[in-house]
Amino acid sequence: MSASSLHDPRGPNPRKAALEAFIAALADLRPSRDPALLEARSRDYYWYSPILKQRLDPCRGEVLVRAASEAEVIRVAAACARYRLPLTVRGGGTGNYGQCVPLEGGVILDITALDQVLEIRPGSVRVQAGALIMDIERAVRSSALVPGGQELLMYPSTRNTATIGGFIGGGYGGAGSVRNGILKDPGNVTRVRVVTVEDPPRIIELRDADIQKVHHAYGTNGIMTELDLALNPAIDWVHHIALFNDYRSALAFGVAATEACARANPLRGSTAPQPGPGPSLDAFEITAVDQRFSPFYAEAFGDRFPAHRDAVFAMVNPRDLEGWRALMRRFGGEESMAFTEEQLLVQGLVPAFECAWNHTTLMALRKDPSWTNLQTVYAWPLDIDLVMRQMQRYGDEVYMHHEFGRDSHGFVVFALPLVAFFDRDRIYQIIAEHEAEGCLVFDNHVYTIESGGMKSIDSAQIDFKKIADPHGLMNPGKTEGWLAEYVQP
Ligand SMILES: Cc1cc2nc3c(=O)[nH]c(=O)nc-3n(C[C@H](O)[C@H](O)[C@H](O)COP(=O)(O)OP(=O)(O)OC[C@H]3O[C@@H](n4cnc5c(N)ncnc54)[C@H](O)[C@@H]3O)c2cc1C
Repeated sequence: MSASSLHDPRGPNPRKAALEAFIAALADLRPSRDPALLEARSRDYYWYSPILKQRLDPCRGEVLVRAASEAEVIRVAAACARYRLPLTVRGGGTGNYGQCVPLEGGVILDITALDQVLEIRPGSVRVQAGALIMDIERAVRSSALVPGGQELLMYPSTRNTATIGGFIGGGYGGAGSVRNGILKDPGNVTRVRVVTVEDPPRIIELRDADIQKVHHAYGTNGIMTELDLALNPAIDWVHHIALFNDYRSALAFGVAATEACARANPLRGSTAPQPGPGPSLDAFEITAVDQRFSPFYAEAFGDRFPAHRDAVFAMVNPRDLEGWRALMRRFGGEESMAFTEEQLLVQGLVPAFECAWNHTTLMALRKDPSWTNLQTVYAWPLDIDLVMRQMQRYGDEVYMHHEFGRDSHGFVVFALPLVAFFDRDRIYQIIAEHEAEGCLVFDNHVYTIESGGMKSIDSAQIDFKKIADPHGLMNPGKTEGWLAEYVQP
């Protein structure tokens, strides 16, 4: 029996009939077909890429429904399965590659009303998947359970607008990764509760390594409703800017500071070799941006990031600030800012984590939308001469931005260079040149999981998809090698 024959075999438009049946079944949740709302909720930040913008701009969901409890999520999942409708789960909608753009229309499930911090414990927190990361951070910092409060191990630079479910579904790491590794590393996320898309749905709890089955799966294999995350004792990080006369020195400082951070924080469960002797300095974020970014930051920082000075933005443990300054001076650096987050906000300044990761590109795009970017990874130890050669080769076509991080295998130098968009061929020529020079490229101009960086189909995720989404309704088109059974429009 085909999917469409399940409800209206004679109808001229089976998708329309399925949508009407869905809306009637969930009338009390007030599903919306408002075109303006559907347009807004069918977008994320794919427009960073002119290539994706052209492909994804026309995509729209056909009905938006908001669930405020796991019971309501279950009802939505059951109705999607019953009527064979494509389903796209949406958190904050800050993903970069059309992760929550409904390629095949259908239902958009807004998860942001599942926003509760359910239980704070020493060393961990249980949250609903739609909770804003910022709200979780506030709750664990202010809880009196542990003297001085606790903090999340990492968050994306979209901390203030992204949900925790969206971070696990589409993210990688971010601020905190130089200290605590990436989301994927053991012990950082310890439990995920998933609702399957079948009629009736089931609830599956994934723990520890099994969490990889849904991590970075772009919402293609089950609806996360609850998560357990590890916590550390809170630190009132100092948001710091160090200025240098050239990008080489900024990068050299970034490398030394990252090694110092690794000495201060051996990664749990990591077998990676430790750096040799040197200073031990605790930091939460280390980002280098070349001086040509300075005009994009002018409103935020003025003379704190002047033209002709390259910058390293960091979040430093106040305990280690003097050591940080000494290391900075060894590389010819000069401090232009050192404030806690509270002090920054009072003065209308921007936190260091919002000068990092994909926020750096956003700062540029707000001023000049003709830019795009790439996502590349450099081998460790960082070959600074290679970066210099690339800067020489590309001139004003590419502005450099490097993120220093770690994962359970060792150090990671991630780059998000800003690239002047000429056309598709030129982007792929620049990608090929980076790959030829040993850089790994996570292609951010494609929308499938596999083309974007996984490079091959993740069989554990596909096996889990067979269990959690047996009809292939979840975010169809985002994972390759999968035939869905949804009713055609
Ligand atoms: C300016 C900017 C900066 C960024 N910085 C970073 C960064 O530092 N690090 C980083 O990793 N990423 C970064 N990103 C990407 C993105 O912001 C993060 O991954 C963010 O955590 C996504 O959260 P969200 O709530 O917006 O997710 P959404 O965009 O709503 O969803 C992301 C994906 O997860 C799926 N999903 C959402 N909720 C659920 C759920 N409950 N169950 C199942 N699937 C679900 C969606 O279907 C979608 O495929 C950045 C993006 C921008 C635009």
